[in-house]
Amino acid sequence: MNVDFTASIPLDDSHDVVVAGGGPAGCAAALAAARRGKRTLILEAGTALGGMGTLGLVPAWCPFSDKEKIIYRGIAQEIFEDVKQGMAHIKKDAADWVPIDPEYYKRVLDKKVSEAGVDVLFGQTVISAAVDVLPGGQKRVSHIAAAYKGSLRAYAANVFIDSTGDADLTASAGFPTLYGDGETEEVQPATHCFMLSNVDEYHYHSDPVMQSVENLKPVSSAISNSGKYPLFKQHAFNHSPLGPGTVGFNAGHLWQTDPRDPYAYSASYMRGRELAHQLHEGLKEYLPHIFGASFLAQTAPAMGIRESRRIVGDYTLTVEDYLGRKTFSDEIGRNCYYLDVHLTEEESERVLAGKKVKDGSEQYMPGESHGLPRGMLAVAGAQNLLAAGRNVSCDRRVQGSIRVMPVCLVMGQAAGTWAALAGKGKDLREVEAKLLQTELKKDGAFFSS
Ligand SMILES: Cc1cc2nc3c(=O)[nH]c(=O)nc-3n(C[C@H](O)[C@H](O)[C@H](O)COP(=O)(O)OP(=O)(O)OC[C@H]3O[C@@H](n4cnc5c(N)ncnc54)[C@H](O)[C@@H]3O)c2cc1C
Repeated sequence: MNVDFTASIPLDDSHDVVVAGGGPAGCAAALAAARRGKRTLILEAGTALGGMGTLGLVPAWCPFSDKEKIIYRGIAQEIFEDVKQGMAHIKKDAADWVPIDPEYYKRVLDKKVSEAGVDVLFGQTVISAAVDVLPGGQKRVSHIAAAYKGSLRAYAANVFIDSTGDADLTASAGFPTLYGDGETEEVQPATHCFMLSNVDEYHYHSDPVMQSVENLKPVSSAISNSGKYPLFKQHAFNHSPLGPGTVGFNAGHLWQTDPRDPYAYSASYMRGRELAHQLHEGLKEYLPHIFGASFLAQTAPAMGIRESRRIVGDYTLTVEDYLGRKTFSDEIGRNCYYLDVHLTEEESERVLAGKKVKDGSEQYMPGESHGLPRGMLAVAGAQNLLAAGRNVSCDRRVQGSIRVMPVCLVMGQAAGTWAALAGKGKDLREVEAKLLQTELKKDGAFFSS
């Protein structure tokens, strides 16, 4: 059912660019558009900017470097460096797996959007769109609708950007989306991240077991195989020191989490909280000198969704593009993060039983990267609808790579810049790819040549 736009709901037509979702992709998009003088609005369902890195308590940035140099530049690097400034224990030149203080990160984004003049509305869940069909069959989004505290609001703009992570705007506007590989609806598991306080800092920083994922594997497997903590079934997990005595955990898999299904989604929060509690108990038992007196300070306000709906774009990035280190004539940046697709429940059980599973996590050599074509941001058939972030047009395996925060920031800056260059009432594709690249370069983006 589509929302009836003939009904009397307040219409706000004071913006050129409206961004749905204020995660890393949405924030970078809004900053890029607003800094180019466009009146820009972010509609965010939650109560803070930053998406998974703040509301989802994801505790660390994936690498910003290709092991030789930083390749996620422009707004991405600017935000990364600013968030680092607030964390006294992080080396200033750290580039890879840098921890995130979520409260500091929220304020960095609040300040940046305020300085750029971006309007931000929290508690606004985008639920529908009005779409005009033009002569020739092309479509144009005229308004989108968001639910806010028992009311509906409509927002008009020249360009809309879907950075909801779940392609909510694209799906609700009636454009095709994909969930899974097109044949099955298998997606990566979710994780409900959490934070422990009162961790013994001396032992946390000195015990080799905490120094690498590899070293922690025997403990993770022992907790999983003990039978006492049945929700935790993982042979490896991540953790990051966030502040005094405070450690963030990206740990535990919740396989049956489908954000399109309100029952499954809600049940996952309850399972996630219980899982965090069980892992905490396991850590207290197996590593008492580090976690014995620790306190489960909080689970994330937002479920950690790795993979959900993806748009169908002008171009679909594939794993073959990734493996071929492909360069595109219309690329808007580069990526080098590995193919990080988390295990299915069955694979996880096999690993815990000491059996092998196929490893599809291709790693690049230092200095290698592939291009991110702008076609993966453009919703096919729509004149004025872009996507940015983990819901762009790509296959499942390569989504495991491009979904991480540095890449989402780069895609966001490109989408916002593209939106700002678009003529009023025109098809976004009238903006030459070369012009977009030139403007992105001026704003610090990284290209291979
Ligand atoms: C458990 C987990 C661990 C991860 N670990 C890492 C890591 O270590 N390092 C790393 O760099 N990346 C990591 N990632 C990946 C990364 O955090 C996300 O993929 C990335 O944040 C995606 O950015 P995004 O802007 O596309 O979406 P999100 O960060 O998901 O942001 C989407 C935003 O849109 C809002 N929204 C959703 N629907 C609507 C709607 N209908 N209307 C309005 N607003 C809406 C949400 O509230 C949210 O704020 C991890 C992800 C998960 C889930």
